[in-house]
Amino acid sequence: MRAWNRFVMHTTFDSWLVGLSVTIAVFVAYTAFRLAARVVDEGRPLRRFWTFGGACVLGIGIWSMHFIGMLAMAMPIQLHYDVPLTLLSLLVAILTSWGAIRIAATGRLSLRRLMFGALVMGGGIGAMHYLGMAAIDITPAIRYRPALLAASILFSILTSGLALHLTFQPRRDPTAHPLARLAGAVLMGLGISGTHYLGIAAAHFAPGAVSRGGLVLNSFWCAATIALAAGSVLACTLISDLYTAELAARTRAHASRLRQINAQLRHQALHDALTGLPNHTAFLGRLEAALKDARAGLGPFAVLALDLDRFKLINDSLGHSAGDELLREVARRLRVAVRAGDTVARMSGDEFLVLVRHVRSPAEAGRVAESISAALSKPLRLQTLEVLVSTSIGISLHPGDADTQETLLAHADEAMYSAKRRGGRSWQCFAADMNGFTQERLCLESDLHRALERGQFELHYQPRVEVTSGRVSSVEALLRWRHPERGYLPPLTFIPIAEETGLILPIGAWVLEEACRQARLWQNDGLLMRVAVNLSALQFRESGLLQTIAAALDAHQLAPKLLELEITESAVMTDAQSSVAILERLSRMGVLVSVDDFGTGYSNMSYLRRFPIDRLKIDASFVREMNDDPQTGLIVHAIISLAHNLHMKVIAEGVETPLQLARLAALGCDQYQGYLFGRPASAAVIEPKLRAHAALSTVDSAATSTRLRRPAWGGPLLASNDD
Ligand code: C2E
Ligand code: MG
Ligand code: MG
Repeated sequence: MRAWNRFVMHTTFDSWLVGLSVTIAVFVAYTAFRLAARVVDEGRPLRRFWTFGGACVLGIGIWSMHFIGMLAMAMPIQLHYDVPLTLLSLLVAILTSWGAIRIAATGRLSLRRLMFGALVMGGGIGAMHYLGMAAIDITPAIRYRPALLAASILFSILTSGLALHLTFQPRRDPTAHPLARLAGAVLMGLGISGTHYLGIAAAHFAPGAVSRGGLVLNSFWCAATIALAAGSVLACTLISDLYTAELAARTRAHASRLRQINAQLRHQALHDALTGLPNHTAFLGRLEAALKDARAGLGPFAVLALDLDRFKLINDSLGHSAGDELLREVARRLRVAVRAGDTVARMSGDEFLVLVRHVRSPAEAGRVAESISAALSKPLRLQTLEVLVSTSIGISLHPGDADTQETLLAHADEAMYSAKRRGGRSWQCFAADMNGFTQERLCLESDLHRALERGQFELHYQPRVEVTSGRVSSVEALLRWRHPERGYLPPLTFIPIAEETGLILPIGAWVLEEACRQARLWQNDGLLMRVAVNLSALQFRESGLLQTIAAALDAHQLAPKLLELEITESAVMTDAQSSVAILERLSRMGVLVSVDDFGTGYSNMSYLRRFPIDRLKIDASFVREMNDDPQTGLIVHAIISLAHNLHMKVIAEGVETPLQLARLAALGCDQYQGYLFGRPASAAVIEPKLRAHAALSTVDSAATSTRLRRPAWGGPLLASNDD
C-alpha cells in the first residue's frame, strides 16, 4: 500500500482499489456503449430496450466506480452513508446515462446534439458524484475548493463529449477507425474516474470531523458493489450475445424468404402468366443473345411476329375464358411447331413472337412460317364448338433486313401488318417500302428537338391517396407533349426517343423545375402537396443530377421534403452498387425516393435492404391481376410485408376498381394511385379535387412548410418522413 498526504484530515489511498475503480469504469463504459450501438443498428421496436439496458449498465457502473473509489480512501474515521440519498445518486447515474445515450445514439450526431449530450452526461456524472458525497453523514459538513470543484465538472463534460463523439460518430463515416469505439469507452471510463478523484481532491474534510448514523462502507459493501458492477456487465453481455444469435437466425430466415420471392418474381418477370411462354422481356434477352452470336459469326436468324386473325371476334362472342383457352392451345402448338433452340414468346393479347435460329434466306424463313400456320390451322375444340384459327405472320431477317433489336422487331411487325392488310391467313417478309415506322419515328425525333424551346411540354398531376383515410398528400407529375399536329402525346410515345437521343436530360431538368414551381404555387395558396417526379435511368446516372435538383428546389424555395423522385426498379437495380451511393446522396439532400414499377424487373431483393428508399410502387400489372390470379395476390402480399419490414411505404399503381382497393386495404397497402380516384390532369383541373381531399395545408403546419414532429426526447423539431 502506497500512501500520500493530501488533505487536512489524514487520508490514504489503496492503490489496488483505485486501479480497480478505474478498470470498472472503463469496462462498464465499453459494455454500455456496445449495447447502445445496437440502438443505432436496430429498428424501432427494440431501441428502447437497448437504450434502457445501456443506461442501466453505465449508470450502475458510474455509481459503483464512485463507491469503490470511496472505499479506496482510508481515513482516520469511518464514513457513514445516508441510504435514501445514496440510492438517489444511483438513480441520477442511470437517468444521466439514459439521456446521454438517447441523444448520442438515436439521431444524426450534429455538433449541437453532441454538445447537449456532453452536458447531460458530464453534468450528470458530476451531479451523481456530489450527491454521493452529500450522502455522507458528517459534521462539520464537507467543504469544497471552488476551483477544483469547477475543474472536476468541466473535466467530466469535456471527456464525455469526446467519448460520445468517438463512439457514436463512426457509424456515419465507414472509413473511421474501428478502434474509435474502444478509445471512446476508455476515455469515458477515465472521464468518470477522473471526475471522481478530482471531486475528492476538491473536498475538504475538517480534522476531528465526526460521521455517524447511516450505513458504514465495509468490505461486505465493497464486494457487493463490485459484484453489482460485474453482474450488470455480464448480464448485458449475455443478453446482447443471445440477441445476436437470435438476430442471425432471423436474418437467415429473412434471406431465404427473399430468395424465394426473388425466384417467384424472376419467373413472373420472364413468363407470361396465361400460357407459361417467355414474355416480352425474356424474348428481348434471347434476341440480344442471338444478335451477339450472329455478330460473332454463329449464324443468321429470323424474327417472326404473329397475330391471330379475328381473335377479338372469338373472344367477344365465346367469352374470355374461351379466349384464354384458345391462347393456351395456340401456345402449345407453337411450341411444338418450332425446333428446340428456337424461342416462342407471348407479347400481349394474341400477339406472339418467334425467334428462329440459323435461317439463311427469306425462303427458309417462309418454310418455318408455313409449318407454324399449318400447325395452327388444325381445327380446335372450344367448349362444344369447333373453331378454326388462322394467323398473320411478319418476318424480318438478320442481318438482311436489320441489325438491331428495335428495327428487327419493328420490321417484323410492319411485315405482319402488311400480311393482315392482305386479308390475313398468310405470311410476309419485310420489304423496304413498308418502312413507315422508321419514317414516323424520324419525324417525331426532329419535332422533339424543338418541343422544349417551343414550350410544348406540360405536366399533368395524379393524386396519390392514403388507403385508410382517403386523404391526399402527394401527386405524381406526368409529362405530356402537346404536339401541334398530333395533339397530346403520352410519354411512352416519346420518352424512349428522348432517352436514345439524350434529350431526356434537358427535358427531365424542365420537369423537375416545373414540378417544384407548381408545388411552390400550391404552397403559396395554402395547399401543401409533395410532388413526385419520374427520373429516367439516364438522368439517375448523370453526374449533374444533384445540382439540377438543388437548382430546382432553390429557384422556388421549396423544402426538399416536398419533392420525391420516382426511379424505376430496373434503373436502380442495374449496377446496384453505384445506385447505393447515388441514393445515399439524394437521401442526404432530404428529397424522398421511391422505386417505380416495382416487381417488373429482375430485382436482387437483398439489395433493397441497402437502399435508402422511402417507398415502393407496386406496378399496375400486379394490381390488375391480383384479384384473378392467386399467385399475383400472394406476390403483392409478400411485397407489402417485405417493404414494411424494411420500414418502407407501399403505393399501388393503376387502381381502377373498388374491389382492387378493398383487397389492397386488406393487405395493408399504404397508398394508391389510379383512375378510381382520378386520372392525371393539369394543375388547374386537379386543384379543386386536391383541395377537397388535402391531408394538410400550410395553415396546419409551422412556418417551415413541412410537417413537423417533436422527438420523444424533447429535442428540436424534425421534419416528418411520413405522408
Ligand atoms: P409511371 O411512372 O408508372 O406512371 C404511371 C402511369 O400509369 C401513367 O401513365 C398514368 O397515367 C397511368 N395510370 C395511372 N392510373 C392508372 C389507372 O388506373 N389505370 C391505367 N391503365 N393507367 C393508369 P403515363 O402518364 O402515360 O406515363 C407512362 C410512363 O411514362 C410513366 O410510368 C413514367 O415511367 C413515364 N413518365 C411520365 N412522365 C415522365 C417524366 O417526366 N420523366 C420520365 N423520365 N418519365 C416519365
Ligand atoms: Mg412513376
Ligand atoms: Mg409505375
